[in-house]
Amino acid sequence: MIEVRGLTNQYLDIDLTRRTWKVFTVDREDCMSYLGGKGIALSLLYQRFDQVEQADPLGPENLLCFSMGAFLGTRATCSARFSGVTKSPLTGIMVSSSCGGPFGEALKTAGWDGMILSGAADHPVVLRIDEQGVRFQDGRDLWGLDTVEARKALHIQPREGELVIGPAGEHLVRYANIRSGNRFLGRGGMGAVMGSKRVKAIVARGKSHRILPADEKLFERTRQRALKYSSRNSFSRRYREFGTNANTDYANKAGFAAVRNFQDRRMDGLEQLSGRTMKEQYHTVHSGCRYCSILCGHKGSYPDGEMKHIPEYETVGMFGPNIGNLDGELIGRWNDLANRLGMDTISAGGTIAWAMEAAMRGLRPSELSFGNTETIEKVLNDIAYLRDEGEELSRGTRWLAGQYGGAHFACHVKGLELAAYDPRASWGQGLGYAVTNRGGCHLGSYLVGPETMFRFLNPYSTRSKAHWVVFFEDIFSAVNSLHTCLFSVFSVILEPPAARIAPRFLLRLLMQRLPRTAEAVMDWSIFSDYYRSITGYPVTMKSLRESGRRIQVLERYMNVRLGVGSKDDTLPGRFTSEGETRHKRSSVVPIDELVRDYYALRGYDEQGIPTRQLLEEVGIKP
Ligand code: SF4
Repeated sequence: MIEVRGLTNQYLDIDLTRRTWKVFTVDREDCMSYLGGKGIALSLLYQRFDQVEQADPLGPENLLCFSMGAFLGTRATCSARFSGVTKSPLTGIMVSSSCGGPFGEALKTAGWDGMILSGAADHPVVLRIDEQGVRFQDGRDLWGLDTVEARKALHIQPREGELVIGPAGEHLVRYANIRSGNRFLGRGGMGAVMGSKRVKAIVARGKSHRILPADEKLFERTRQRALKYSSRNSFSRRYREFGTNANTDYANKAGFAAVRNFQDRRMDGLEQLSGRTMKEQYHTVHSGCRYCSILCGHKGSYPDGEMKHIPEYETVGMFGPNIGNLDGELIGRWNDLANRLGMDTISAGGTIAWAMEAAMRGLRPSELSFGNTETIEKVLNDIAYLRDEGEELSRGTRWLAGQYGGAHFACHVKGLELAAYDPRASWGQGLGYAVTNRGGCHLGSYLVGPETMFRFLNPYSTRSKAHWVVFFEDIFSAVNSLHTCLFSVFSVILEPPAARIAPRFLLRLLMQRLPRTAEAVMDWSIFSDYYRSITGYPVTMKSLRESGRRIQVLERYMNVRLGVGSKDDTLPGRFTSEGETRHKRSSVVPIDELVRDYYALRGYDEQGIPTRQLLEEVGIKP
């Protein structure tokens, strides 16, 4: 067994067209600047950006990078995670995705910190990777299998972890995902990119390398602190007990429920789909990522006798109220089906909801209608196999609205469908959707938490929102690069003694009115201490945040080169002009003001372009 202190810095460069591979290294400076995970992956693609910029996302020129980060293999809390980055076939801009499946640990303990796939194979292949390198195997027998069948056919051994695509990826559905165990690289169509390269699966065989922290004492001290914080933090405790579906309890009251393609913000009977109800109905047990100290993942026994994964809040929202459905069993079944087919449930649900409303308004004929659950299973299959109207639905909401009209209620940003949080209930979340680099993603800054769940910020005010979006974007980008789980952020920053002893009203006041002072009470040294203890690199809390900012700006700059600008940093008309819903509070998001504030804080010009001075400051060469 080879011992590694933190990082191997060894990456694989795999050319699928030529069936060759070679090893390259990432130097210490780049590691300190970009940390790992999402950050390093973006920086590697930026080094070859002349190619990526011109590439058709589904053409052989596009690059698909997987990057592991420093935490993997160390037993750090929530450390099973790794990132994928590519140019998205759904949005046409950069997309990153984080996953907690077993592939990460297997690749890392095979001695590789990541890999880049380029070109395309001339027939389906399976890549087998171990400490010796890469073997190309014929994958034709597996092509056509769903993700569960394919995993079985791969005969995965205990030392191994896999990435696999389903029929949706093979058929280039623009929002196809990649599966690893029961976790997914979910958003932006990474599965279609893998399918376009004709890679059905990648299997890594690990445990030839042992990953040890450079400073074991500091590592253990930090781990104990992280365990303590996450065990007492109320957000973590709720997720541990009810999964992300704990959010359903807030959805009606706060008014962020996505109902019938976001026509409404609350729905009677929604409690039938809450995490609490599902826990009772399906006798749930934990099923999370390895080394997790929060355990948001659950599975349960459904009445059909099967043990299924309990859908995430976002899936429940998009396959539930957003299409007029309150049947939890059906949502569990469709979630399972989408996972087998290999497609993102948020984009699938959002696209189906748009088609329902377009049909209702006579814009586009469809067999779909709100509340009619009979057709959903067939449509999900049709999307994956490009049959009937599924062929059009496979292209996503933006494309459909471009063909048929209805852009006003096409609930996406930059082509990425919104998750089940209505921004009219959470203006900071609205700003997050509008400016998050990968498009309408809820996890760019997630202000819906501080605004509606912890109630630190007034959800219907513009005050300080740009500040907190910038802050959480920087921290989340760093966390997605370390790489650990975003869900640990709230326990890390809100549980240290200073934040705990500060009276709640004071914290509220500071966050709302003096955000810089509020930041000083927060403490994310668990993340920097972990990184320093694992790698031995002199990373501090301040430099960690600076790395997050650099990663954020780099991603923005790459997107600007791909055509993104101020015209794209906005919300669909529904959220900026339709104030009346069945929620008691009328609200539209004042998005222009919010975005203006955000640009000023970020150092972007009024077109939303990072200024030369900003690029120099963070060390990005244009
Ligand atoms: S909190 Fe959930 S997503 Fe995060 S590492 Fe744990 S199980 Fe995985």
